[in-house]
Amino acid sequence: MVTVKLKPLDEILRSLSGFKRVYIIGCQLGSARCKNGGLREAYKIAGYLELKGFKVTGVKSPGGTCVLERLDHSSKSLLREAQESADVILSLACGAGTQLIAENVTIPVKTGVTTLFIGSEREGRYFEEYCIACGDCVISDTGGICPVARCPKSLTNGPCGGAIAGKCEVDPNLPCIWFKIAQRMEQLNELEKLRKPVPMKDYSLSVYPRKLVLEE
Ligand code: SF4
Ligand code: SF4
Repeated sequence: MVTVKLKPLDEILRSLSGFKRVYIIGCQLGSARCKNGGLREAYKIAGYLELKGFKVTGVKSPGGTCVLERLDHSSKSLLREAQESADVILSLACGAGTQLIAENVTIPVKTGVTTLFIGSEREGRYFEEYCIACGDCVISDTGGICPVARCPKSLTNGPCGGAIAGKCEVDPNLPCIWFKIAQRMEQLNELEKLRKPVPMKDYSLSVYPRKLVLEE
């Protein structure tokens, strides 16, 4: 899931300075799940902006903002309503969703969030980065655990040797992910596979901007 974090209110206020009528678009997928940009937060920001003298002309969400590109009937009418009623849109969707909004309207679009990472939700309380979308996934060979995102040095061919008592030398609050990988491989009776040479990772596959073309 793409994770986002709300920007501080004074920063949001600064990005809206000079505008009077604001339309707020939340996202009910990643942003809502992170409690940082769903409709609940959108309504709170609306209340704050009204107190600061703005006129909030609407607070809505198309559901998942990143699928807006399909522009179904309700998405189109939401964007039309936004640009006919406001001078500016405040988006609480991730960077992808916000750019899609901006591509489909003629008024300025500001963001109220920062997009953080692709994360996994832990115990319903926090999110951990699990994938950096490297374009050349290796986790079939590492017990289903990603060393690229979860080792601070992104080492794909084994541990750096700096771990102390199973903790990462870069951040002692984290386990050395290579210990976890070895434990998992042992549990799967696949430890021997870690002795095999690791093919070079193709980093050209992570050069931006990337595309995924769907077959007809
Ligand atoms: S190896 Fe790459 S694609 Fe696979 S989980 Fe890790 S970062 Fe994501
Ligand atoms: S201690 Fe482990 S997780 Fe930390 S940088 Fe070294 S190999 Fe990576």
